[in-house]
Amino acid sequence: MDALIASASALEPDAGQQLAFLRQLQRLFQEGDFTSTYKYALLLALAELAIECDGHAGAELVLPMERIAGKFAEFYWLQSLPYSADATGNHGVLFQNSGLQVAVIGHLTALRDLGISTLSQARQHPHWPRTLEAIASRVRDMPVPRLQSLSGSSVVFLFDPATVGKTLTLLPGVAFHLRRFQGFIQQLVRAGWVNYIRSNNKNASLVGQGADLEAFLFMTPRAALAKVEQLLSPLQDRRCFFCQQGLHEKGDVDHFIPWSRYPRDTALNFVLAHKKCNTDKRDLLAGGAHLDRWLERNAREGATIAGQLQQAGFVSEPGVEMMVASWAYREGVSAGVQVWQGCGNTTRISPDVMQSFG
Ligand SMILES: [Zn+2]
Repeated sequence: MDALIASASALEPDAGQQLAFLRQLQRLFQEGDFTSTYKYALLLALAELAIECDGHAGAELVLPMERIAGKFAEFYWLQSLPYSADATGNHGVLFQNSGLQVAVIGHLTALRDLGISTLSQARQHPHWPRTLEAIASRVRDMPVPRLQSLSGSSVVFLFDPATVGKTLTLLPGVAFHLRRFQGFIQQLVRAGWVNYIRSNNKNASLVGQGADLEAFLFMTPRAALAKVEQLLSPLQDRRCFFCQQGLHEKGDVDHFIPWSRYPRDTALNFVLAHKKCNTDKRDLLAGGAHLDRWLERNAREGATIAGQLQQAGFVSEPGVEMMVASWAYREGVSAGVQVWQGCGNTTRISPDVMQSFG
């Protein structure tokens, strides 16, 4: 009997269940009380980990709190630097809540004060484990019990806060929904986060009309991307990753799995391409031949790329890029999306593409 229940609960949620989940999520944004940005960070962390941790169909997913804390550190790392809307104006660290600054910023600033300038250096520092532990404890105390509190009552649809300790367990079906609606959730959360920072009175003198706020909050500075180009250009034999023609101009650093689907700068997701090819590909997944070339490159050069880009401050977690790619193509097959084969050439995705993942 137990086995039957287990296999039934691992089935993919049906369309009705997916709609019900989206309704709950919509309520969370409309009725949830966002007194700091912690709830946005927790939602983003759960959404990304649902992709990055192995899991099947509609089953529950157990996430170590340490990994959730690692996500918080990653999100707030860029944001723990002073921001200025213009070169002449005030600058300072943006307030992430209406009271005292959130504790996570304090933990990360303490690491920066030790002379650490990149997140990958921070991760290798002897203080890192205790920083993660402190962040995990804060996440357990603050957003975990409050995230699902809507209009004063608790609606448990993501995880049961009472069971959160060293791990947080996503209820059956939740990881599936987070994977399926990833792009949508990412956009909602980031828009909410930017809006919170902009409308927080304590940030008024810093933010002004700064149009680059979203980029500051979530994107790697351009200077760091220049290092990606320097590394990839000789590795690709100064050819465009996609069309394989000579790259005589300055190439575009492209996200192989498009940023719109997975907005995170991981080392092995970068390729160098002609501006024309990159622009034409837009937010589409690349076709099977490109996917095979990318998988081959990562099998052959992955360790070199990851090692060198880690020194430049980029994150690389063994296996994560592969997990993300397999998720993106699986969802693409399920939705029957168009894939990009080359300039002016798109075709409907073939289910055979999944064979590339073995
Ligand atoms: Zn090209």
